[in-house]
Amino acid sequence: MSPGLTRYTGPRLQLITVIYMSYITGPVTRPQNVKAHVGIIGGSGLYDPGIVEDPVEVRVYTPYGEPSDFITVGTVEGVKVAFLPRHGRGHRIPPHRINYRANIWALKSLGVKWIISVSAVGSLREDYRPGDFVVPDQFIDMTKKREYTFFDGPITAHVSMADPFCDDLREKIIKATQELGYTIHPKGTYVCIEGPRFSTRAESRVWKEVFKADIIGMTLVPEVNLACEAQVCYATLAMVTDYDVWADHPVTAEEVERIMKQNVSRAREILYKVIPQLAGEPETGKCSCCRALDIAIV
Ligand SMILES: [Zn+2]
Repeated sequence: MSPGLTRYTGPRLQLITVIYMSYITGPVTRPQNVKAHVGIIGGSGLYDPGIVEDPVEVRVYTPYGEPSDFITVGTVEGVKVAFLPRHGRGHRIPPHRINYRANIWALKSLGVKWIISVSAVGSLREDYRPGDFVVPDQFIDMTKKREYTFFDGPITAHVSMADPFCDDLREKIIKATQELGYTIHPKGTYVCIEGPRFSTRAESRVWKEVFKADIIGMTLVPEVNLACEAQVCYATLAMVTDYDVWADHPVTAEEVERIMKQNVSRAREILYKVIPQLAGEPETGKCSCCRALDIAIV
């Protein structure tokens, strides 16, 4: 434990959530029957809950309002998976309007121990090419007006964000992607901007040359912060779709769409390979995500 940090002894995050569940074609069922072990938050391009078998749709109400959409709960090789499209079906919700707190709360309330977040990003480096995958290990927050915490008082907690992602989960994703033969960069700093507009050329140069960030997107923060507060193991599989505006590589909408399609099918393959490895509980010693509140400053 670092000096100055005290053991958190206050009440744990209380997950008092009313869940109403409805089958797509069936009657409303008792909510306590629905549990999941792995959460997948699908980003741009990955809306399809068809990655799970025997899907049921769950509607979760949270103290923070409604999540982005129904959550589809099913199985992948016997592991219970909850799939949530970050922007809602049909990409209805722009990054700055996503109810991140409701999304994380809803997944946590279903019992999720691991979250793999999939998102499309721009590249700030020549060697992180469109079509490549990146598993970021750091982020820089340039968002402006979002709800960043579950601890709005009277309980206060300042969780450590020194290593914001789950190293165990990151390694599993990196290894699976390498085994499939796809290009993956095992490190990267993700700069998260407010959006929905893209960066100016001047801003893009700042992210690249001053901040030394590697990829750029609009949705990582506060999703990652909240997963940490909820003590869920969280990692991001980022798919590079284009170079940000710093580069003189203008891309057409068709190119982006082609890369997105290819990446989404590859992302599904990666998920199928990683999810069966997440059947157990997160192991003590492999990461500190699940004890984030133990070392929070209160
Ligand atoms: Zn972890």
